[in-house]
Amino acid sequence: MLEIYGLRVKFDGFDRPLRVWWKLKSDRENVMQTSYRITIDDVFDSGVVASADSVAVRISPSPEPEKEYTLNLCVCDNKGESATASVQFATPLKTFSAAFITVSANPAPPCFKVYKNFVLKKRPSAATLYATAHGLYFAEVNGVRAGCDRLAPFWTSYNKMLQYQSYPVGLKEGENTLALTVGKGWYNGTVGFHHGTNTYGTVCAVAAELHITFEDGSCTVISTGPDWSGSESCIRDSEFFDGEVCDYTAPRAAYAVETVEESGNIVPQMSPPVCVIGELEPVAEHISPSGQRILDFGKNIVGVVQIDAKNFAGTVKLRHAEVLDKDGELYTANLRGAKSEDTFVFDGNQGIVSPQFTFHGFRYVGVEGGDGLPLGAFRALILMSDLEETGNIVTSDRRVNTLIDNIKRSQRGNFVDVPTDCPQRDERCGWTGDANVFAVSACYNYDCSLFFEKWLKDLANDQGDDGSVPMVVPDILNSRSTSAVWADVAVMLPLKLYRIYGDKAVLESQYDSMKRYVDLKLSRIGKDGLIDSGYEFGDWLALDRDELMPVSGPGSTDSYFVSNAYFTVVLGDMAEAAFATGRAEEGKYYVSRREDLISAMRREYFTATGRMACETQTACALAIALGIVPPQFKERVSSALCRNVKNHGNRLTTGFAGTPFLLFALSEGGNHALAAKLLLSRSYPGWLYAVDKGATTVWERWNGILPDGSLSDPSMNSFNHYSNGSVIEFIYRGIAGINCESAGFKKIVLSPRPAKGLTSVKAKYESVYGTIECGYVYSDGRVKIDVAVPCNTTAHIVLPDGREFEVGSGIYAYECVSVDLTAEPVTADMLIGDALNDEFIGPVLRAVGGDLFKSPQVFALKRMTFSRAGESLGEGGAQTIQKIIAKVNDIINAQ
Ligand code: BGC
Repeated sequence: MLEIYGLRVKFDGFDRPLRVWWKLKSDRENVMQTSYRITIDDVFDSGVVASADSVAVRISPSPEPEKEYTLNLCVCDNKGESATASVQFATPLKTFSAAFITVSANPAPPCFKVYKNFVLKKRPSAATLYATAHGLYFAEVNGVRAGCDRLAPFWTSYNKMLQYQSYPVGLKEGENTLALTVGKGWYNGTVGFHHGTNTYGTVCAVAAELHITFEDGSCTVISTGPDWSGSESCIRDSEFFDGEVCDYTAPRAAYAVETVEESGNIVPQMSPPVCVIGELEPVAEHISPSGQRILDFGKNIVGVVQIDAKNFAGTVKLRHAEVLDKDGELYTANLRGAKSEDTFVFDGNQGIVSPQFTFHGFRYVGVEGGDGLPLGAFRALILMSDLEETGNIVTSDRRVNTLIDNIKRSQRGNFVDVPTDCPQRDERCGWTGDANVFAVSACYNYDCSLFFEKWLKDLANDQGDDGSVPMVVPDILNSRSTSAVWADVAVMLPLKLYRIYGDKAVLESQYDSMKRYVDLKLSRIGKDGLIDSGYEFGDWLALDRDELMPVSGPGSTDSYFVSNAYFTVVLGDMAEAAFATGRAEEGKYYVSRREDLISAMRREYFTATGRMACETQTACALAIALGIVPPQFKERVSSALCRNVKNHGNRLTTGFAGTPFLLFALSEGGNHALAAKLLLSRSYPGWLYAVDKGATTVWERWNGILPDGSLSDPSMNSFNHYSNGSVIEFIYRGIAGINCESAGFKKIVLSPRPAKGLTSVKAKYESVYGTIECGYVYSDGRVKIDVAVPCNTTAHIVLPDGREFEVGSGIYAYECVSVDLTAEPVTADMLIGDALNDEFIGPVLRAVGGDLFKSPQVFALKRMTFSRAGESLGEGGAQTIQKIIAKVNDIINAQ
């Protein structure tokens, strides 16, 4: 039977086509759509269209503003079956025209309330509130909060684009009240590490229009204006960094209101709203040595703490922290200038309350006051943009599963309307480089299409006249660059979105921004055909830097190598965007500029026999993964990369630029086993190092917590930074094997590559066509591979043993002979010192090795690999060491 699901509509404006998406499900194999027909009430009928299109299908009805329509869809497939579905959608206002009002007070209070009491003489049948603010706001109708979002109108470059929200609300015949509470937020509150204030203006204001339809069919509108009343709010102050002060006991002064000029571009809400997406109860509490009551919510999350204050009178102060110090006190040094404190003064008449205009990144909360409030009175509310979860991976290794959870948690914490670098310290900016390296991972995990499309509009809005790209978007730093990775997001992100979601609209709307950036960067190409000037972040936070460098900064990979390497991607992406949007001549131009750049890089960075001039892990990884290395030298550069990794004791040294490509490059260069080893390594630096240290999110630095348990330099030590979480892309694509060949996964490549140490990996991705599944389970020398291919797509399957198949939709199972995938926590090429220091391996190794590791020789042995130690122990040494390794591995695998 054929079924339609996921039918949705996107309305971008009255002058633009409407776009429609749907997915198909069937119990048959090889199902392709043959035709569709779309009707919208009596305003549109597409007729039967012979087409397999089901993603971002463009239709041009002429809907009227502020109306609810029903779209009906009928689809036929190549098996002679058909299905129908319908969806309702509402059109926005033609124009938002309410006046912005504020309270007449000097100085203006940080937060205030405006309200209007009105009488309806007839029974209302429906009402929609349209509202926005300079600042943050929430609306209440007759004391009931409108909508369940938080932090509206969210964050855009307000002076260029301000979103309004629409809320269905309930009214009654007779007396009603509409109240709007306003706070500073991003508009004029403190933002960024520079602690900027009044970024978009000095005066908070709010605008609303309430459209009411009566049972008799008549309509009326109630809008904000000078006839409204104002007052102080119980929220006395609120800042993202410092937190909120809410005093229910203080008298609230009454104010008149006045109108405020607004000339901006006010548009309907574009991306999913920020909502409370989950709640956590504290898992424990303790009294710290200094006597502070500290609650532990178990995970490092982003949001606020809600208090059930029934019958409680008095002051409660909550202090937030991501980690505890060695003594069990809240560690707040890494929050830098963010106080992250919420204060409530209760008068005994409150119920359940939470801060409204702030958020924090925390796991631990110190409670001052509040004696008598039980543990159950506190709950953490998790905030995030309301995105659909689309990806899921489960492996046989619990630590890898924790890593996957941590990456997703860091994404949730940093996807509060804007993709931020971190959510806790005095920064929380839309750093472009972080978003660029994590974007594909983000889009596998969650449907980020609208989230990123909105952000890209801001990027274009804040771009320099010369095409330079803001370092953070929205651009609160007033600082633009052409730095690789960071500025490159202007081109790389639209292409990533197009490939994953199959909708050309993002390329069309970003094309001008993309081209302006690329042409600026092309103009910077010097006489050798390479970019060799301009500010570069380089391989940010790589560990292979010169010791004399400051603590934060790029590693030792030539920053211009990074810049040129990434620019080859940017030029390729630009060409693809040009071809996809019907600009073939421009496409050819960018293709040829890319070829020129690759030739120039080959001249500059490779000797005649294929040695690279810069042999860092990042440089080798970029050269291999981005196709810069001349094909005849690929093997040599792959060996150089392996050598480098091995010389570092099987450790990575890459920073932001190299990390997303490292494991792909190893795997592609024939060293998949080494890629798996890095992924599964528990030593510092590595992904599982943090997991073993109890991380519940991804850290900014590989060494956020040092092996001895002490904390790294607090000036830049976020415990919730998704950038290094880009490794999840390798798990989805490089191990589970879910890859996209043509836009939107219309053509899929399923190429699972079992990894030593992971006896099973199962991944699921909900694409715009439907559910894709791929992965493997190992047992007894064979891997079983199960795949699912959605209707209306085809897949190219590449099995680990090299067999290949072309299939249509359906569920398929395969089996291959496989090497033993059982984990070997200890391998012959591991340093004995690392093994002894490992908190899991060390005790077992000492027990199994007995006297060997107690002898005076141990000092020398610690610096050797196990195989080298075997040789050094003379006759029989190699066998002794092998037996020790086998026994240790058996014990650890059985744990
Ligand atoms: C941020 C980074 C960002 C970097 C750029 C930091 O402060 O937290 O993640 O990309 O600055 O230099």
